[in-house]
Amino acid sequence: MSLLRFNVIDEAIKRKACNVTPPAERPADYFGMYVFNNEKMLKYLPKKCYEALSETMRNGTPLDYETAECVASGMKQWASEMGATHYTHWFQPLTGGTAEKHDSFIEPDGKGGVIEEFSGKLLIQQEPDASSFPSGGIRNTFEARGYTAWDPTSPAFIVDDTLCIPTIFISYTGEALDYKAPLLKSLDAVNKAAVKVCRYFDHNVSKVYSYLGWEQEYFLVDEGLWAARPDLMLTGRTLMGHESAKNQQLEDHYFGAIPTRVAAFMKDLEYECLKLGIPVKTRHNEVAPNQFELAPVYEEANLANDHNVLLMSVIRRVARRHCFRVLLHEKPFKGINGSGKHNNWSLGTDTGVNLLSPGKSDDEKLQFITFLVNVMKAVRKHNGLLKTSIASATNAHRLGANEAPPAIISIFLGSQISEVLSKIESSENGDTISMDGKHGIKLSIAHIPELFIDNTDRNRTSPFAFTGNRFEFRAVGSMANCANAMTVLNSAVAEQLAVFAADVDTLIMQGVAAREAIFRTVREYIKQCKDIVFDGNGYSDEWKEEAGRRGLDCETSVPKMISRITDGPTEELFGKLGVMSPTELHARAEVEWETYTKKIQIEARVLGDLAINHVIPVASRYQETLLSKIEKAAKLFPEGESDKITRHDRAIVLDISGHIDAIYDLTEKMVEERKKANAIESEKEKAIAYHDNVAGLFDQIRYHIDKLELSVDNEIWPLPKYRELLFIR
Ligand code: ADP
Ligand code: MG
Repeated sequence: MSLLRFNVIDEAIKRKACNVTPPAERPADYFGMYVFNNEKMLKYLPKKCYEALSETMRNGTPLDYETAECVASGMKQWASEMGATHYTHWFQPLTGGTAEKHDSFIEPDGKGGVIEEFSGKLLIQQEPDASSFPSGGIRNTFEARGYTAWDPTSPAFIVDDTLCIPTIFISYTGEALDYKAPLLKSLDAVNKAAVKVCRYFDHNVSKVYSYLGWEQEYFLVDEGLWAARPDLMLTGRTLMGHESAKNQQLEDHYFGAIPTRVAAFMKDLEYECLKLGIPVKTRHNEVAPNQFELAPVYEEANLANDHNVLLMSVIRRVARRHCFRVLLHEKPFKGINGSGKHNNWSLGTDTGVNLLSPGKSDDEKLQFITFLVNVMKAVRKHNGLLKTSIASATNAHRLGANEAPPAIISIFLGSQISEVLSKIESSENGDTISMDGKHGIKLSIAHIPELFIDNTDRNRTSPFAFTGNRFEFRAVGSMANCANAMTVLNSAVAEQLAVFAADVDTLIMQGVAAREAIFRTVREYIKQCKDIVFDGNGYSDEWKEEAGRRGLDCETSVPKMISRITDGPTEELFGKLGVMSPTELHARAEVEWETYTKKIQIEARVLGDLAINHVIPVASRYQETLLSKIEKAAKLFPEGESDKITRHDRAIVLDISGHIDAIYDLTEKMVEERKKANAIESEKEKAIAYHDNVAGLFDQIRYHIDKLELSVDNEIWPLPKYRELLFIR
């Protein structure tokens, strides 16, 4: 038997994968080569059509039919020249992945032949057979129609031989069945509300963009080992496996030298991303062994999100080319860090101002404080909903464990900003504070620029941290579509900015000067929402108690968190802004409960199967080996001696029996609980039952399996162990 117990992918293939030759050209030469970007638009579209499309991309002005026809024709020409033969509407259903149905450009010419065609109608709208996408009851199977509609603000791109057109996905009756439609609406809402507030400071602002820079964490495992782990294959995580003696204790992986095989994969991945216009920039090893991170330069949120969703499919493809499998699950391995997807978020104007950057002039500083405080207030009000936006069966393993944000949303500001806010709060008399004068607020706000020098006190335990010129929402899961979190955040901020404008206008109408009205309102808000700020250790038990006293949402059960989606404040928030209707929200909650149940159900089945038909038979076989040794020893040696020879063997036999018994009992119990849960009609109650009565048994069963892994002969243990899975050679 070789030292390796598994058929790790053939060395020759591996070497070949390492030998991917980097392209001869520079990134600038191939960046966006598969994207119908500005350069292609200029080349393939008539001037009038180009201008109309550019205007739509910039300001969302609706496109007329004639322009769509013309865009379709230019796009088709480019795509054909690039070798594309098919097109697809590319959308993001509530499954969490992407969906595409490829159609070829071929149309019958009526004379027995074919022509290649792509009309404006096909570009704008498609009607995929949508009956199998989750809809939470909006779309009954007898009314299976759903429509995809072109999102001209995100450029089309080519993957293999297919032109992909980013689209939203809606039901026959107009409800969103995807992540993109609500995101676009929330971006519009925050734009409108923020522009109004910006105009207190600068009349030239006519558009506010929401930006997103995601940081994608992931694990790589060797494909051969992955294939020998049914749990990884079917659930994306290991449901069993004893900790490796060495894992991340020495902290030798983080930012360490990237293994050659992984470096080759990363280069290839970056090349593919850049060709698709994804501006990837940063790569490094993460904390856990075999864990890595990729981050692009931030972009406008809708495009950034499309790019992240696209990346999640590109990374899978490229990994396979290198005989790896990529794990995007939030917690593939117990006992070491899981993966998240930090969402760096900011707002910026079309005049080039980052509204979350402290700024230089007094006006800029007040504007910065205004936006900062409004974000705080929005997060304070909707902290529960924000948590719901990142909650899932898979991310639940990460939240609350001592490595990632706790299951409580709070804000980290850092000492300098906190100090500035407390100065503003305690400045007694708003009316005597002149913005352009030499005292009061001027003094407080003058502290801010130091931030750039000193902003090193990062707090990794905070789920929502201010990091100098943006907020970093760190609780988002590595597998998630960021749109969910971004829709809630942008909507909450939009709602709050509208309230702010109304409060300020009321003061102005009472004769208070504009700057002072802003200042007073901000000061009042700080008092109201400062308890969302927490700069301490988010992992501590004291914080959980304190957060409860502050009235922050401390719910830890994902199915219960999902209830927030349909509660009063959420319906009011999304209804007011026109982002989602109560029907859409109810549908989403149903889908989330259903998804939760299904994920736990699948895990329970896989765990049960592996326990009964992989682990127990092997443990029994080893027991038998020991028993026959004991038997033989008893025959060949006098009693005293044979006892001595087999003392440990007998202990192990008994120990194994104990674990086997426990596994049988617990697995039986799990099956019973599953049956009971399955009989529940309500999706919500079913998910709660799966959470409370089924998922809790996983760790108990696993405990016994992991113990067996330690005692059973290594040579016959059927599953690759952590020490084999976690260290790419
Ligand atoms: P770190 O790991 O230190 O948090 P990274 O460099 O890995 O930082 O990632 C930071 C991400 O934040 C990048 O995607 C970057 O483009 C993005 N980012 C930087 N400034 C902004 C901003 N103003 N708004 C949104 N995202 C930003
Ligand atoms: Mg970060």
